[in-house]
Amino acid sequence: MNFVHRKLLSVEKCACRCKKIKKSIPGTPMKKRLHIVITGERDAPRSYVIAKSSLLTWGLSSLTLVLLLAFFSFLGLKHSARNGHLEASLDKTKQDLQVAQKWNQGIENRLVGQIAKKEAVFQGILDDLKVKNSEREELFNTAVHELKNRSAIFDSILKSVGIKSPIKENANHSGGPFTPLAEDSYEDLIFKFDHSLDIIKSVPLGAPVLGPITSLYGRRIDPINNEVAFHSGIDISKKAGAEIICPAPGKVIERGCTEGLGNYVVLHHGQGFKTRYFHMQKSLVKKGAQLKRGEVIGLVGNTGRSTGSHLHYEILHNDKSVNPLKFVRVGRNM
Ligand SMILES: [Zn+2]
Repeated sequence: MNFVHRKLLSVEKCACRCKKIKKSIPGTPMKKRLHIVITGERDAPRSYVIAKSSLLTWGLSSLTLVLLLAFFSFLGLKHSARNGHLEASLDKTKQDLQVAQKWNQGIENRLVGQIAKKEAVFQGILDDLKVKNSEREELFNTAVHELKNRSAIFDSILKSVGIKSPIKENANHSGGPFTPLAEDSYEDLIFKFDHSLDIIKSVPLGAPVLGPITSLYGRRIDPINNEVAFHSGIDISKKAGAEIICPAPGKVIERGCTEGLGNYVVLHHGQGFKTRYFHMQKSLVKKGAQLKRGEVIGLVGNTGRSTGSHLHYEILHNDKSVNPLKFVRVGRNM
């Protein structure tokens, strides 16, 4: 392809022997045009005339187009690079997230394991406490049952000797709101038991000497003058010199010897109980002595107004004589 540029008139033949008449572009000087001739081996050459201004316009347009393409390509590349960076960051974030998830899963598994262990320990403690509480409750119920039984025995003993057990406290220098105890509560049972125990400890139970009872309490014919009289105790026959045993803890409040009583001793046991022992051969305690149950008070004798070796035994409750036989029988039954 050859490009020939030459000046042409308005109408002339082309020197390139294309045998075609080139017409000039009306109103366009030749110097502002570009003549393009295309030749081939077989076909006749072809000639084109282009105005330089159009060529410039095309060139500028093409350049603009190229610049735009380049700009958008740059933007595309830039966004592509940015997307690649973001994708890489995203992949990295995903990997970090997977690592964090594995780490969290590991921590969660450990925590679940530790919680399960703690729960097992806690459950074991709870089970142990349940067993202990059950045992404690059983022991408590047994203790309450025993307490009831023993309180019933005490009440039975007191009832059998005809003694009521009024519960009285020292009313001086005391007070406060009144709160009744619940019936059959543990506190109520303990209170009753302690009170009954205090009384029982002071009750003279059993015989001070073992032997046949030769004279009962109450109305009788006096053995000396054969007149009707009141016998304020019981006579227990026993050979002289036999030991007289203290039937309850008590204090010796009186001892002596009279023509009628012979050698005698009086004990105070508390809770309003006193016991008296007459016609003793000999007393073995001193006034003021504190005696325990089972200690020897003195020896059986035949002193005073007596017809033979025996012990005259009296019990007083609140300074009134009561029948000692009930107390002796209770002691034998116990
Ligand atoms: Zn007597």
